[in-house]
Amino acid sequence: MSKVFILDATALISGLDPNIIDRSLWTVAEVIDEIKDSRSKLRIEMAIENKTIKIGRPSATAIDKIQQAAEKSGDIVVLSDTDIKILSLALEFKDKGHEVVILTDDYSVQNVASRLRIESKAYSTAGIRYEIKWELYCPSCFQSIEMYNTKGKQIFCEICGTKMKRRPYDRKFKERNK
Ligand SMILES: [Zn+2]
Repeated sequence: MSKVFILDATALISGLDPNIIDRSLWTVAEVIDEIKDSRSKLRIEMAIENKTIKIGRPSATAIDKIQQAAEKSGDIVVLSDTDIKILSLALEFKDKGHEVVILTDDYSVQNVASRLRIESKAYSTAGIRYEIKWELYCPSCFQSIEMYNTKGKQIFCEICGTKMKRRPYDRKFKERNK
């Protein structure tokens, strides 16, 4: 069976033009809402109209499995509903016997994918592994806090109550030695 590529918003924002790639590309409808840049948005909407990118709807069962895996790994703290759906869609393809690659720059998505033996590829960091320290930031008011001892807990912004997301704040680049 042919390889299925699943794209999240980070892959689409980082300039990937789905209209010039000859592959089976999928995403979930929620990704479109995450793209604010109007040029990227137009490109994606065109690709959907041309059926270059197809929209998948993961089942409740797949979503449930992903939530459980993300709870175990602690990534549930930072995964958005869109991230969960991306992962669930990938899991469904995999369970049907497809080879799947998730294209994402989100470390938590990569982490959960790897626990479920789903291949993922980063866009901006392709081929490079780095040691990452994390902080939590509020996507709404941008306040950030150091991330420690937060594993498995849902963290909300003290100022505005929005669910916080994780991001790296210190990158030490390192050659991949795996
Ligand atoms: Zn906030």
